[in-house]
Amino acid sequence: MKSKKHIAYIGIGSNLGGRLKNCKNAVQKINQHPEIFVIKTSSWIETEPIGYTDQPKFMNGAIEIKTSLTPQKLLKTLQQIEKGMGRKKTFKWGPRIIDLDILLYDNQVIQTSKLTIPHSHLKEREFVKIPLLEINSNLNFIFDISSNS
Ligand code: ADP
Ligand code: MG
Repeated sequence: MKSKKHIAYIGIGSNLGGRLKNCKNAVQKINQHPEIFVIKTSSWIETEPIGYTDQPKFMNGAIEIKTSLTPQKLLKTLQQIEKGMGRKKTFKWGPRIIDLDILLYDNQVIQTSKLTIPHSHLKEREFVKIPLLEINSNLNFIFDISSNS
């Protein structure tokens, strides 16, 4: 039986080493996974670090993918790619070779200790919003929904 395909959006960021090369490398690695197909890639934008500002600027972008992986398996796959590219655990908001976040997965809402979808940065961070809307402007409704939480 063929497994169901899902549409997801991945946020990509890097602020160490060859930042653009790292981002593009990650897209290639994601696309190489047998159960992930990259449909669209945004432009890459340079952004100021947020939270902990005494670190290099980031390169950020986003991709649209088609996948048969569950959100949990997709997260695990992205974390393996991060690790394989040499990402070390530092501190929250700290510098990183590569950061791969699941922004959206179909229209699912997930809230567990390991996984929050839509991603918690989605609404407040321009570096997520700009690339996401570039690849799918229909998603702008997400940014119009007011949140009281
Ligand atoms: P951040 O991306 O927030 O700066 P990390 O990349 O170090 O921080 O991720 C910290 C944790 O965030 C991960 O261990 C993962 O379990 C969790 N997480 C929760 N929701 C998501 C998501 N949508 N995409 C990626 N990671 C997520
Ligand atoms: Mg992350």
